[in-house]
Amino acid sequence: MAGARRPGRNFLFVPGPTNVPDRILRAMHVAMEDHRSPDFPKLTLPLFEDLKKIFKTKDGQVVIYPSSGTGAWESALTNTRSPGDKLLAARFGQFSHLWIDLARRHGLEIIVQEEEWGTGASPERIEEALREDKDHAIKGVMVVHNETATGVTSDVAAVRRAIDAAKHPALLYVDGVSSIGSIDFRMDEWGVDLAITGSQKGLMLPAGLGIVCASQKALAAMKDAKCRRAYFEFTDHMKANATGYFPYTPALPLLHGLRESIAILQEEGLDNVFARHRHLAVGARAAVKAWGLKLCAKEPKWHSDTVSAIMVPQGFNGADVIDRAYRRYNLAIGAGLSQMAGKLFRIGHLGDLNELMLLGAIAGAEMAMNDVGIEVELGSGVGAAQAQFRRNAALKETKVAAE
Ligand SMILES: *Cc1c(COP(=O)(O)O)cnc(C)c1O
Repeated sequence: MAGARRPGRNFLFVPGPTNVPDRILRAMHVAMEDHRSPDFPKLTLPLFEDLKKIFKTKDGQVVIYPSSGTGAWESALTNTRSPGDKLLAARFGQFSHLWIDLARRHGLEIIVQEEEWGTGASPERIEEALREDKDHAIKGVMVVHNETATGVTSDVAAVRRAIDAAKHPALLYVDGVSSIGSIDFRMDEWGVDLAITGSQKGLMLPAGLGIVCASQKALAAMKDAKCRRAYFEFTDHMKANATGYFPYTPALPLLHGLRESIAILQEEGLDNVFARHRHLAVGARAAVKAWGLKLCAKEPKWHSDTVSAIMVPQGFNGADVIDRAYRRYNLAIGAGLSQMAGKLFRIGHLGDLNELMLLGAIAGAEMAMNDVGIEVELGSGVGAAQAQFRRNAALKETKVAAE
């Protein structure tokens, strides 16, 4: 098969990059232009304002970098911290691990709260640690809202309540790379100080934009932050951005794509986007249940609406399922990372996606599992998801009829 033409579409069901809608592809197909022209701010100024609506903030400050999400991680930390600063971070998956690793490489002292993979940040433990920190040595709390490696969503509002209950001034740093634009996220209401995202997940763009939103409290902390930074210097961006420009050449096609992405999200309505992700996720979870398999997420309260990490039975290798799905059925599903390597596979269900597309992925996963000897009944997951989707459609219709 290798090298042969593969007819039809590749089914892209990794949890990022996600499918780029044709509208966005077309919007990015533009001639280059002078990014110092008097017309350029017409494209850029509204982007900053509209992104604030997606972060749900009134006076947050948005910065857009030509980077992946990892650059936004780095920016949020280096612009607000000094080497030696202590931060508290919960670790329960590969992304929370990598963020901690990045922070340490910048000389930050990270107090790690280990949580079992398949669970998430513990507001109780965070509150306890902050209460014990009487002299306020801890400068920030780092939380990955949606741990993409395990399909776990943490309760950021509860983390904020924990910080407040401990009457602690620590800043709240939140990785929203695989949640913002897909799962409800409320920067102001939850008192998030640094919110981080990237372009290739819920925003339905190619990778290449790292986006940070900073609260006023975070901007105040910037004044004496001594971590080294140059390319990611927030103030260079803020100064240029104020008039619609950038301190260096921006990734123009991606900015046009972002314009279209925001338009698409606004047309559907953010709340409807979140509801669609919930609806699709419930269908995926019904399929997993029908297969007799378990999610990596230990309890319903941890269930992610953007990615399901599915444990393969003992004696099987999740990597074989992924390999088979890709080679035989042109279906890309995500691998288990680090301590979950081989133990699971992940179906990403975020971005520009509908029920029938997801049913295709569930069908492909079912076939691939059988191919490698995991005897889930063919059609069982598809049938369970179909039933779930129809129930929900019926619900919606009854609602409409009642209105
Ligand atoms: C994808 C992702 C990132 C960023 O990864 P990049 O490859 O640098 O864009 C960070 N955190 C989470 C939770 C992610 O899912």
